[in-house]
Amino acid sequence: MGKLKLLVMPSVFIKTYGCQMNERDSEAVAAQLSAKGYTLAASEGEADVILLNTCSVRDMAEQKAIGKMHSVAARVRRHRPKVVLGLLGCMAQSRGARLLDQLPDVDLVIGTQKFHRTADYLDEILTGKRDKIVDVETEAGSEAAIKEHFPHGNRGASGEAARKVTAFVSIMQGCNQYCTFCIVPYTRGEERSRTIPDIVAECRQLVERGVREITLLGQIVTSYGKRDVPVQNGKSAFVQLLEAVHEVEGLERIRFTSPHPKGYGDDLVEAYGRLPKLCESAHLPAQSGSDRILKLMHRGCTREKFLGIVDKLRRVQPRMGITTDLIVGFPGETEEDFEETLALARAAEFDNGYLFKYSPRQDTPAAAMPGQVPQAVKEERNARLLALVNEISARRYEALAGERMEVLVEGPSRRNAARQMGRTRCNRIVVFEDAVDRRGELVKLKIERAGSFTLYGTMNE
Ligand code: SF4
Repeated sequence: MGKLKLLVMPSVFIKTYGCQMNERDSEAVAAQLSAKGYTLAASEGEADVILLNTCSVRDMAEQKAIGKMHSVAARVRRHRPKVVLGLLGCMAQSRGARLLDQLPDVDLVIGTQKFHRTADYLDEILTGKRDKIVDVETEAGSEAAIKEHFPHGNRGASGEAARKVTAFVSIMQGCNQYCTFCIVPYTRGEERSRTIPDIVAECRQLVERGVREITLLGQIVTSYGKRDVPVQNGKSAFVQLLEAVHEVEGLERIRFTSPHPKGYGDDLVEAYGRLPKLCESAHLPAQSGSDRILKLMHRGCTREKFLGIVDKLRRVQPRMGITTDLIVGFPGETEEDFEETLALARAAEFDNGYLFKYSPRQDTPAAAMPGQVPQAVKEERNARLLALVNEISARRYEALAGERMEVLVEGPSRRNAARQMGRTRCNRIVVFEDAVDRRGELVKLKIERAGSFTLYGTMNE
């Protein structure tokens, strides 16, 4: 990389906002840069390159990243004017070059189809070939460019490697559903899927490095390969992919996120009973319990269909852990509509729910709909729904006390390093004490008690 080859390679700090897809994109960018010789900085204060991987799903996420970049530019640039500042991901994609007007200190703006170009663009800036770079173009084949992982698992800022037990594998990009509240189809583009052999090869490599559980990732994974892989023997492209990944020797568990309820055909429901590595957990975004609101949202699913899927899944796997996303205060939502959402939560008995107060996103149809709900009403409905979801969740967690459950041990607990943590097949976190480091092992634990979204287990018979 030009003159810099003579010097110590720069260090990079990446801060990630938003969802697991963004986490995975940042991980791949960090691995790409690391392979080129960059080191990973523990904080922005010691980095030569500071990148913010941004989220656009809610206005608050965008404002946070913009505020952060303002403060980084003011603090870091004052003492170290040569530090390179970059914005990646969804907000970079949706705002493009306009970000340079708002944040003139930013050097690099990279959209969602250009993550794999980060190292090249940094080289050009660091070697003085170019001052500023903005690239938010579409690129054919970019969905297959998010595949790098660290050779030995997660790396701390000091570069030390720890064995990685679980990994995310990006299988597709984009979404064609165009829910009226959602900005994702505009920031991530049309659905584009990787091939089954390409995905399986990445899974195989991860397992060779010690990974035991893989989560297949995409904005709408159940639409995987729809246009490219024909249905075979009644099995959708996504179910065919699950079968192919299931064949990877040494892999113990498979999960996926995020699906769409309409993608839960009988072939997928039936796969939960047939593929032992497919964990009995499902994230099923309901968004609302009112058919009128679901139609306005363009969700392509009704309340009855949704509850039918929940019912079928629990019949195939009675222990199925089901989580959801729910939006309160969508334009036009009346008290009656909201009560239907409360009733849906009661009927579905979710293990957990992620609640969102509707936030208008520029250029999405819902932002211009009549009947925008006042903030105070959104707050009040959110509090009521949260209380209900938490009450149901606590009851379902407590019901597991006394059971013996299989747990994949992921490593020391984040809150208490003297304890180890892992997950059940139904995706509940379990913490337990044991002197032996069991990272990567499947253990049978007795669940002693339930805390807030955590189970406490013992190795005792
Ligand atoms: S299916 Fe999900 S990602 Fe696609 S538009 Fe709807 S909410 Fe957004």
